Amino acid sequence: MKKQTTFITSLILSLSLSSFAQDNDSTVIRKFFNESLSNGKSYEWLRDLTSNVGPRLSGSEGAKKAVQWGKTLLESGGYDRVFLQDVMVPHWVRGAKEEGYILDGKQKIKVPLVALGGSIATPKKGITAEVIEVKTFQELRALGKEKCEGKIIFFNRPMDPTKINTFEAYGQAGDQRRSGANEASKLGAIGVIIRSLSSTENDFPHTGSMVYATGVPLIPAAALSTNAATLLSKTLKENPNTKFYFKQSCETLPDAPSHNVVAEIKGSEHPEEIIVVGGHLDSWDLAQGAHDDGTGIVQSMEVARLFKNLGIKPRHTIRIVLFMNEENGNRGGVKYAELAKQNNEKHIFALESDNGGFTPRGFGMQGASAELLAKVQSYRTLLAPYGLHEIERGGGGVDIGPLAPQGTVLIGFKPDAQRYFEYHHASNDTFDTVNQRELEMGAASMASLIYLLDNLK
Ligand SMILES: [Zn+2]
Repeated sequence: MKKQTTFITSLILSLSLSSFAQDNDSTVIRKFFNESLSNGKSYEWLRDLTSNVGPRLSGSEGAKKAVQWGKTLLESGGYDRVFLQDVMVPHWVRGAKEEGYILDGKQKIKVPLVALGGSIATPKKGITAEVIEVKTFQELRALGKEKCEGKIIFFNRPMDPTKINTFEAYGQAGDQRRSGANEASKLGAIGVIIRSLSSTENDFPHTGSMVYATGVPLIPAAALSTNAATLLSKTLKENPNTKFYFKQSCETLPDAPSHNVVAEIKGSEHPEEIIVVGGHLDSWDLAQGAHDDGTGIVQSMEVARLFKNLGIKPRHTIRIVLFMNEENGNRGGVKYAELAKQNNEKHIFALESDNGGFTPRGFGMQGASAELLAKVQSYRTLLAPYGLHEIERGGGGVDIGPLAPQGTVLIGFKPDAQRYFEYHHASNDTFDTVNQRELEMGAASMASLIYLLDNLK
């Protein structure tokens, strides 16, 4: 009888303890959202970053300023440690504003065009040539050298609008930007223009990185706005002899010194085990880099502020990392992982926000065991009231990717994806397109997941 009483007592005790833990978890999560939505700093930090620092491509003055900006702000947060990690980054500059014209034999139509990041310049007077439009590399190869020699190749495969996950559509169209120039050059083309990787029909050309293959002649590559691409395609159908002219003066300078910015809250129980929360501090040169990735930066900084401000002491060490050079090299991400290995650090989780600052939907996990994924999925009851329903495999982030071989579980914050590619890498990626509540909800969502993961073991 005694034994049974003890058993029942301990059962009741453990039941009430676990429901206490759940209550406690839901209270903490509620506090994160209350604080972020009532006294949050992310929106004003973003205003400051986008308007006072502005574009911050690796190697630029803007990037230098951004490092200082992040360091100063994190130092004012009262965290245990703020430090910089040295990293050499590529230094590509756009030069004078590019020019592009459709020459249909009757008129010269000016179109919005930007050089792709990493591209070489055209000759000073620009290049003029007949245009061959293709949708795929296969189609291009079938044309052969004869048809492509001396021409400008126009890659015009749009992002598939039927994909609900726009990142999937982006991934499928991305080869045109990344290696279109190499494929065209192999067939003797003298230049490449691509339809901007955007899900919206408008006049903003979207840049992004391209990489030259070794052993292939380098040819200049640029992106047309989606509207211009549609117009060029239509013009070519009416007059196949239509020519195109473009001029750009970009160049790659020697690598430049730069930094990742790191802030740390020491863990109370397992200080040697680290959880990273971050985004990338660099942006393309065309815009303020609001959604890409100013929002990820200020959300990560807000996660640290929420823990500190609410007096929540993490059991594991939390590191906020503002990575440098995601856009055209990922040197910051690679350097971070390299140093982690060198210093024998154990990174258990890394969470990145680099999918825009839109309404939070959930998280994608990479490298998690089935057991861990199931456990995190069981948090849906706690997270669903805040709109966080999607907890699935997949995700992660470019900057945290290099940590994967060290056994780190990678997590990508997933906001709503329908608007991101309207702004991505284009001059309309500005502060006014970010909604304050959406941004703040994202920061609180990230803090909530970090809190739950920190209490896993
Ligand atoms: Zn990004």
